[in-house]
Amino acid sequence: MKVAFCSSEVFPFAKTGGLADVSGALPFALAKQGCTVKVFMPFYKNIKPQKMYDEYGYTKEGSIEFYFIRNDSYFMRDALYGTPQGDYPDNLERFSFYSKKVLGLLKKLNFSPDIIHSNDWQASLVNIYLKLHYKEDDFFRNTKSVLTLHNLAYQGIFEKEKYPFLEIPKSYFTMHYLEYYGKINLLKGGIVFSDMVNTVSPTYAKQIQTPDYGCGLDGVLRERRESLCGILNAIDYNVWNPRTDAFLYRNYSAGTLQGKAFNKRKFQKELGLKVNKNSLLLGMVSRLAEQKGVDILSKALGHILKKYQIVILGLGDERYHQILKKKANKFKESFSLHLKFDEVLAHRIYGCCDCFLMPSRFEPCGLSQMISYQYGTIPVVHHTGGLIDTVSDAQKGGGGFVFRRYNPQDLISAVERAEELFRKKDMWLRLVKKVTQYNFSWEATADKYIKMYKKMLNSKSEIRILEQKI
Ligand code: ADP
Repeated sequence: MKVAFCSSEVFPFAKTGGLADVSGALPFALAKQGCTVKVFMPFYKNIKPQKMYDEYGYTKEGSIEFYFIRNDSYFMRDALYGTPQGDYPDNLERFSFYSKKVLGLLKKLNFSPDIIHSNDWQASLVNIYLKLHYKEDDFFRNTKSVLTLHNLAYQGIFEKEKYPFLEIPKSYFTMHYLEYYGKINLLKGGIVFSDMVNTVSPTYAKQIQTPDYGCGLDGVLRERRESLCGILNAIDYNVWNPRTDAFLYRNYSAGTLQGKAFNKRKFQKELGLKVNKNSLLLGMVSRLAEQKGVDILSKALGHILKKYQIVILGLGDERYHQILKKKANKFKESFSLHLKFDEVLAHRIYGCCDCFLMPSRFEPCGLSQMISYQYGTIPVVHHTGGLIDTVSDAQKGGGGFVFRRYNPQDLISAVERAEELFRKKDMWLRLVKKVTQYNFSWEATADKYIKMYKKMLNSKSEIRILEQKI
């Protein structure tokens, strides 16, 4: 099967969040199972394809190639989508350019894919153009398109004045297609024009069909429910593995957990926290966005920091930077704050802390809880989305601590329950050992994607129905 995989970020070339992790791993897992995969992403500043490829040590099993779409005025910038002050104003132009080029390049390469697999609003236009610009083109006659929704909160919404740039007939600027309350909505267009839509966990696939989680697109998603499913993400155990992780002070496994204890001591020292193996050390690595629960966390912090230690690594909205900075100044002894993107520090947080915090208001899948398991770091999570599918409470035989109501008090209670068990060393150790055995590998997930592709190739295209509607 020939797959064109389109993503605006791919690890290790460029990353702001989980999309990059998925895009750096799923294509390989597909290739290992026999697909021929070409990956398309923009050529951003600081990408050194060969060097990064070599350093990452990709296994060469399977057939996979990377293509970087180049336009220096669009992509040679410090960030991928914008700064803490806001998005780049020309994001529509940037990703429309990218999408047009991908389809053009497929023809140039004479690679007529069975599946175009696009991700999020940035690549939605690939699927939209496929249906609108190439519907008469024999080259794509047998091509089916899938759109994966990694986060419904980011939709690519733009003022209608930008519409001409898209080069899409005006007749599609209606509520049935690309229009959303007078504006352009690229994710909505992607949902309407793709043959299949999936999201990254079964629970989130259900939640987004409700007004509470649909971010205004629940109606459109309900209309497409026959072509909508949830496939749980996985993690790349070549990247996330405490036995081999080059960023840890000391490697360890479930059998050598004294290595993890060593890492904690060293980390506490390095961060300027009190070195004490009996202090519960909580970690968090996160985009600092409304979604991630920084509001309830900041309210809970005063209480938590009196008893426990926290290290937070994050980058995001300026207002959350300010809130956290204030707390960090107040609790210098127990709070280590790092407002940046830092791959090395992220690995250390997973490998050195006792617990990992994910108080997300909503969570399409979440990768950090699965990474934490692998490092024997116990997740403390809000009961939502993909966290429901991956974390159940230790009191019920699960591997984490779960709070159901989204408020600071319930978050505090979950942390306190974690600490209670932490003090019972034998039981804690048993829990830590147990979670390191959990397996969320890409193999099983890629298998599900391939099944979905096959189903799509055997069914009639949705576009026929759409054409009748026009
Ligand atoms: P999302 O995609 O919503 O950001 P996920 O949990 O799916 O959340 O994935 C987050 C990924 O990004 C994880 O690999 C996490 O370690 C990483 N990450 C997030 N923020 C940072 C940061 N500031 N520095 C380094 N890695 C980060």
